[in-house]
Amino acid sequence: MIVLYLGRIMEIAPSAELYANPRNACTRALLSAIPEPVPGRASQRRILMGDIPSRSTPPSGCVFHTRCPHAIEARARVVPPLEDVGAGHRSACIRNHALQTVETIPA
Ligand code: SF4
Repeated sequence: MIVLYLGRIMEIAPSAELYANPRNACTRALLSAIPEPVPGRASQRRILMGDIPSRSTPPSGCVFHTRCPHAIEARARVVPPLEDVGAGHRSACIRNHALQTVETIPA
């Protein structure tokens, strides 16, 4: 599977790996928007804050930085490369290693 945001590849992984271990904040927010199929069960949705950027003038650096809850100062200057994070999984995030232990979407 490939996760795109504003035309940029944010994450690539085999589907089972991506659902079980989403690494990019963009992917985590996207997966959290899947409707809860069990009535009454609490939703784990992550509501993104920040400005919704224009597709015609995407943000500099990481295109997700205006909405990312983990953005740091370098996010507007550095275009994150797609980094191999193992298991056939690549994520475009300068904080791949720091965010590895941040809570993921519950199964
Ligand atoms: S590079 Fe920064 S802004 Fe982009 S997804 Fe990673 S933490 Fe968020």
